[in-house]
Amino acid sequence: MILVTGGAGFIGANFVLDWLAAHDEPVINLDKLTYAGNLENLASLKDDARHHFVQGDIGDQALVESLLAKHQPRAIINFAAESHVDRSIHGPDAFVATNVMGTFALLEAARGYYAGLNAAAQAEFRFLHVSTDEVYGSLTPDAPAFTESHPYQPNSPYSASKAGADHLVRAYHHTYGLPTLTTNCSNNYGPYQFPEKLIPLIIHNALAGRELPIYGDGSNVRDWLYVGDHCSGIRRVLEAGKPGEVYNIGGENEWTNIDIVRHICARLDAVKPDPAGSYDRLITFVTDRPGHDRRYAIDATRLRQELGWQPAENFATGIERTIAWYLANTEWVERVASGAYRDWVEQQYGVV
Ligand code: NAD
Repeated sequence: MILVTGGAGFIGANFVLDWLAAHDEPVINLDKLTYAGNLENLASLKDDARHHFVQGDIGDQALVESLLAKHQPRAIINFAAESHVDRSIHGPDAFVATNVMGTFALLEAARGYYAGLNAAAQAEFRFLHVSTDEVYGSLTPDAPAFTESHPYQPNSPYSASKAGADHLVRAYHHTYGLPTLTTNCSNNYGPYQFPEKLIPLIIHNALAGRELPIYGDGSNVRDWLYVGDHCSGIRRVLEAGKPGEVYNIGGENEWTNIDIVRHICARLDAVKPDPAGSYDRLITFVTDRPGHDRRYAIDATRLRQELGWQPAENFATGIERTIAWYLANTEWVERVASGAYRDWVEQQYGVV
């Protein structure tokens, strides 16, 4: 049994689906179901006894303690977070509450649980914390990619709150001996991503004939990884990572925002032609995000060399799969974008 937090969100849901496709080991999925949590992502597991969904907050230490005592998981994998940089600029409170204080409560519950395990269970137990490359700050165009020893220089309330959580995780290993693992991953894309994030936003808006907003001059650089490859990296770190260590996960796949948007427009033109010409006519430059980091790039050499991880998708195949998924799931996107999925969840599960 493993305990996954935030497993109704984008990456967490992909992780739970991939996990149960590959293992019989059950999953307890603790998720608060914020605007970003969507049980519809897990609809295929509705009658699967290996998936136990619990609606709740990682900051509710008593709830986490009761789940740990009841289910005795061999690992906790913490995906739960407020994850959208723009939202963190307008309302940082929720970011500190969940990303810092929530992770703290989860660590406290894990510390007590771990102390009560027998030696064999302690040897097996892992606390894996899922984090981001944004904690490392911003790179100049020619700087080498972030390694695990790059100093933390977070620039947004989101990345600062994730950095705070990463430091707590590190401290719980060094101070209390909790067998922690931290992964710092680059930007993800793929199925079930909430359409406020760049790639699904562009696909969704293009298909609807709406503007494709790009911050500033579009020259900011991000390093993109297909979500299934992030999940396989996490599984590999869980299996073979050394307690107390940090592993970067990334596809070594840097793109400027404008190039990525043009690429998506071209791929969409090929599979579902724009009735008015080409989707790139919709590109619109908008005022830059305050404090917008110029460039992120991840060096994943440690994960590749020490743990033998390889991504399965290259960017071209990952984008094809993602576009195909969004084209096949336009109703999912419409429901998520309209908030109507909450009605759907209530109908299906009786919870909102
Ligand atoms: P997401 O916003 O899609 O999902 C977050 C999930 O956490 C949602 O289901 C939400 O309901 C849940 N949640 C939020 N607050 C909670 C709380 N207090 N208690 C329990 N559940 C709560 O995010 P995502 O993109 O899937 O990201 C998952 C993790 O991966 C985050 O920790 C994020 O920092 C990290 N990450 C994301 C990316 C990316 O590109 N999306 C890249 C690197 C790392």
